[in-house]
Amino acid sequence: MTRVAIIGAGPSGTAQLRAFASASENGAEIPEIVCYEKQADWGGLWNYTQYTGIDQHGEPVHGSMYRDLWSNGPKECLEFADYTFEEHFGRPIASYPPREVLADYIKGRVKKAGVRKYCRFNHSVHHVSYCDQTEKFMIQVKNLRDNQFITDEADYVVVATGHFSTPNLPHFKGLETFNGRVLHAHDFRDAREFIDQDLLIVGASYSGEDIASVCYKFGSKSVTISHRTEPTGFNWPDNFQEVPLLAHVDEKTAYFKDGSSKQVDAIILCTGYLHHFPFMENSLCLRTDNRMWTPGLYQGVIWQDNPKLIYLGMQDQFYTFNMFDAQAWYARDVIMGRIELPAKADMQKHSDAWEAREQTLVSNEDMIWFQGDYTQALIDLTDYPCFDVEGVNKTFMEWEHHKHKDILKFRDNSYRSLITGNMQPVHHTSWMQAMDDSMQAYLNQP
Ligand SMILES: Cc1cc2nc3c(=O)[nH]c(=O)nc-3n(C[C@H](O)[C@H](O)[C@H](O)COP(=O)(O)OP(=O)(O)OC[C@H]3O[C@@H](n4cnc5c(N)ncnc54)[C@H](O)[C@@H]3O)c2cc1C
Repeated sequence: MTRVAIIGAGPSGTAQLRAFASASENGAEIPEIVCYEKQADWGGLWNYTQYTGIDQHGEPVHGSMYRDLWSNGPKECLEFADYTFEEHFGRPIASYPPREVLADYIKGRVKKAGVRKYCRFNHSVHHVSYCDQTEKFMIQVKNLRDNQFITDEADYVVVATGHFSTPNLPHFKGLETFNGRVLHAHDFRDAREFIDQDLLIVGASYSGEDIASVCYKFGSKSVTISHRTEPTGFNWPDNFQEVPLLAHVDEKTAYFKDGSSKQVDAIILCTGYLHHFPFMENSLCLRTDNRMWTPGLYQGVIWQDNPKLIYLGMQDQFYTFNMFDAQAWYARDVIMGRIELPAKADMQKHSDAWEAREQTLVSNEDMIWFQGDYTQALIDLTDYPCFDVEGVNKTFMEWEHHKHKDILKFRDNSYRSLITGNMQPVHHTSWMQAMDDSMQAYLNQP
């Protein structure tokens, strides 16, 4: 029997489990599946841990999420087409849930699908290689509970380990002489640590803008955002300032490329993440920047040099959970022989066309439509339930508009579900006033 090993049980890995369960529910015979997950539970980044650095098993802490993280886009843009928020929570809920609420939703779907039996938690994959003779992958896995290695074999490997966990750390001259705290966004856990501080955020992308907002919300004295390419352009409060890239630092002061400087208490490097797969042998290892099209992956998922290897969720992301679903359903159908892959040269031609379009993308709007088209193209190839992808794109456009109107209030808006068609309620408390990020507080109807 065909054996499939999935690495990681975050939203991408669980999408793969759900895709197989769906085929099974429809009467198909599915392959043998195992899913190795190094954490003690599924949910991926959506599991919050207060720990940073190395965990109790000597493994790098995967989590990059922080307390008080609320969805940075409308939940209507990521809703599973086969499991709505209304089904999970029993009623419509507001559009920008905190982390715990989204974690509960992700887990609810796979719990219902009964796929936990495939998961080996506390199992970290340390090495994957391919044997040309047997045409199988050899997988070396560490059972973190008893510190023992096991070796597994599989016909297909699905890498679903995410790419927002290993920090990209540019060096800035003088950082080692700075007297305050310096950390990467990966290690940021709680804005309360920075109350009454003058904060420097290096990086003006999603992590930068959100960590800046959360620190302001919890009482940082001032926030300076340093950008490499361009400022965020948002309408920040008076104690914010946007400056060019950090040039160097001394004991107390940060100096920027335009000659300006600012005395700061702490520096948070929101400088992005690396695609990092230390467990993949050289010839199987995806090497890419964070981009909208990932070269070498046919349909964004199939490793062209060996189509029995699949990478999920490796693109830069506007679309998330529903795109991972579209990918997982497609991968499932390739594995189950329902979709025949073209010859390698034709796969390359197909990828080249997407890559050429990627090169023309300029604005966020362009990227959203690009990713919507990509998601739609995959959905058209499988039995993943159709949903209004154009409606999702338009909701993303509204979101962009709301952010530019007021970056600290955009989460006070609500949107219509593209699956149920129901308008979702406005949250009971404005985001700036909502200091309790628990699920109970969020779902409480005052
Ligand atoms: C701070 C932050 C905020 C975000 N906010 C949002 C948001 O608001 N909305 C949104 O849609 N997206 C958001 N994202 C994007 C996020 O990438 C996706 O939502 C989603 O978590 C990606 O799922 P994934 O399964 O691909 O990866 P992950 O969630 O990273 O899951 C990967 C899993 O693989 C496991 N793993 C890794 N290595 C190994 C190994 N060697 N062996 C076994 N298991 C392994 C990990 O433990 C983890 O469980 C955010 C990301 C970050 C970092």
